[in-house]
Amino acid sequence: MISPGRVAIVTGGGSGLGRAISLVMAANRARVLIADINPDAAQAVSAEIEKAGGEAIPLQVDVSKEEECERMVKKAVDTWNSVDILVNSAGIIIDNPLRKVSAADFDKVMAVNLKGTLFSMKKAEIIMSERKYGRIVNITSVAYKGNAGQAAYASSKGAVGSLTKVVALELARRNITVNAIAPGIIETPMARGITAEQFERIAKATPVGHIGQPADIAHAVMFLVADEAGYITGQVIDVDGGLTVGIGTNPLMYKTKTN
Ligand code: NAD
Repeated sequence: MISPGRVAIVTGGGSGLGRAISLVMAANRARVLIADINPDAAQAVSAEIEKAGGEAIPLQVDVSKEEECERMVKKAVDTWNSVDILVNSAGIIIDNPLRKVSAADFDKVMAVNLKGTLFSMKKAEIIMSERKYGRIVNITSVAYKGNAGQAAYASSKGAVGSLTKVVALELARRNITVNAIAPGIIETPMARGITAEQFERIAKATPVGHIGQPADIAHAVMFLVADEAGYITGQVIDVDGGLTVGIGTNPLMYKTKTN
């Protein structure tokens, strides 16, 4: 359970997983700062929460800029006098085979996915350490295990996993937990490049038999941000319907009949 009135920041809260996480968290009586580079998206999710009787504020933030992450944390403190929960869901994807990976694209992906996560934690931790309480969840991806064509994205997500473990160790004595969720394929705007035919093949290759929904990730995050989750830290938890469990699970290669 989240104690009522806990203050949460959700980066990338305007869309997909961040939106679902914000909605579920607000329904559980957290006050949520919806931080997104897209101000209209942040505003829309904030309005949706208020309409449902919850408490939220939108904020336009580019998490790849350290000073903007500082402003984001300041906004939560100025408004609600705390930051108890931080979920880093802001992310971008630029896929290319190795020969076509440009330095500029690689830097862009790292700037948002990795540095954005670093800067948000760096600023939020100051308040959490003062209060001796914090729950941080970083959204990585099962791509950290390796996925052809995702040099930049998979590297950024692998690094987020390592960063999660480092910060978990640094903050453990201050009653702050730091974990990561690694989603499999989830139906969000980010997955728009996947064709219907590919979705069908992935669903068949997924042990639970279907593609994930944003709520599947939101509820996993809720588990980790609960007051009672204080003994779980430094973990990267795959939430992928079993997709990457076992050997030879590449969905496009999957041929074995299961019944
Ligand atoms: P999405 O595109 O729907 O949402 C991402 C949000 O991040 C958008 O609202 C976007 O405006 C925001 N954003 C982008 N750059 C930003 C920046 N610099 N500063 C602040 N906000 C920024 O995608 P999603 O599927 O909800 O992805 C959320 C997270 O989950 C990402 O980190 C993504 O890598 C990860 N993920 C998604 C999937 C999937 O299948 N959808 C799978 C594994 C991991």
